[in-house]
Amino acid sequence: ATPVSVMVGTGRAAELGVLFRNGAALEGLQAVNVVALDKTGTLTEGRPALTDLVLTSGFERAEVLGLIASAERESEHPIARAIVVAASAEGLPVSPLEAFEAVPGYGLNALIAGRQVQVGADRYMAQLGLDVSGFAAQARTMGDEGKSPVYAAIDGELAAVLAVADPVKAGSLAAVNALHAQGLKVAMITGDNRRTAEAIARQLGIDEVLAEVLPSGKSDAIAALQAGGQKVAFVGDGINDAPALALADVGLAIGTGTDVAVETADVILMSGDLRGVPNSVALSRSTLANIR
Ligand code: ADP
Ligand code: MG
Repeated sequence: ATPVSVMVGTGRAAELGVLFRNGAALEGLQAVNVVALDKTGTLTEGRPALTDLVLTSGFERAEVLGLIASAERESEHPIARAIVVAASAEGLPVSPLEAFEAVPGYGLNALIAGRQVQVGADRYMAQLGLDVSGFAAQARTMGDEGKSPVYAAIDGELAAVLAVADPVKAGSLAAVNALHAQGLKVAMITGDNRRTAEAIARQLGIDEVLAEVLPSGKSDAIAALQAGGQKVAFVGDGINDAPALALADVGLAIGTGTDVAVETADVILMSGDLRGVPNSVALSRSTLANIR
């Protein structure tokens, strides 16, 4: 594109709440065939709430939730805030942490008042050698409802399964529909569990789901799509989205996302409204058409 048409295009984008870092992104978007999006904080609000807590017999709710919340106070994962808020609403006291370790993509491991508290995904419990099959029916229902099941172990014993629900953003369905109308394929990439991811994808009409992806695996997922000969745009907000944003043909970050995501992206959706994605594609197509 000529510099002038790119300037006009990027100016129009700014009016739509979309910032183009470079002219190459405005030119690149019209060539994209697939738009892949992170789930938590991108398609969803990223502000989950605790909805369920099912205990193993012998464990007591206030004690278990109090211990988990005391551990999650130290975590930066969106799930952590949901648990901390719920425990505080129930007036549960927090206990000081004696040790804390985040296990990225899996969960956390903490020591509180001499008790070992481990919280995370089913694959984390499997890694710890804990059998979660006693909660299989509950976890399946939670997943099918679009909620994320999370397990807690106390002193090496499975104590509870919890669920958090993270509502989809207002603009997400309209954005997916608009991308489809533009002839694009829409994919979701998430570390969350498969059932949960598929339930959210169904609500939104998303074509392809890559779930239970480890933090280091998101860019591999982009590479796999590109290896199939496709031009890929990736939309994300998190620290672990940065490598995928860098590798994608066009990387788009949620403006309210983490600094590293925003700094890595070619395009920034200032308000986080995903309708900015099809709007940017449309702008890219018309800008390039104008100068041909
Ligand atoms: P995502 O952001 O897509 O959930 P992550 O890689 O951050 O992906 O986490 C993968 C999974 O690990 C989460 O869905 C959750 O089940 C578990 N997990 C990670 N951190 C925590 C935490 N602090 N508390 C509970 N579960 C966690
Ligand atoms: Mg995210």
